[in-house]
Amino acid sequence: MPKGSCLCGEYQHEYEGEPVATYKKTSGKVFNWTRKGDSGKNVTYNNCGTCGTIMTVSAEAMPDMVIFKAGTLDDQDAIESSKPGAQIYNKNKPSWCDGLAYAAQKDGAS
Ligand SMILES: [Zn+2]
Repeated sequence: MPKGSCLCGEYQHEYEGEPVATYKKTSGKVFNWTRKGDSGKNVTYNNCGTCGTIMTVSAEAMPDMVIFKAGTLDDQDAIESSKPGAQIYNKNKPSWCDGLAYAAQKDGAS
């Protein structure tokens, strides 16, 4: 089961499935903060309670999905096998960024 951690190493988590089917925090403190997303529904960020690294994101508009931050993965094989299928919020990318040629391109979240 691929594992991940925050910058300070206190918050650790693991997941299984493609896309992520099961997810659990295995150690560390967490704090959450919530904002309104483009849909007008809440988007909640789950951060390490010590260093603040964003670990996962949950959106009311996508209730069956937990966004697992790829930058928190510790397992290089898991990173290699997690090729993105879509690149979102292209409306915010800088003009010098060509984007991922193999991924679906979206201006917003969907
Ligand atoms: Zn941390």
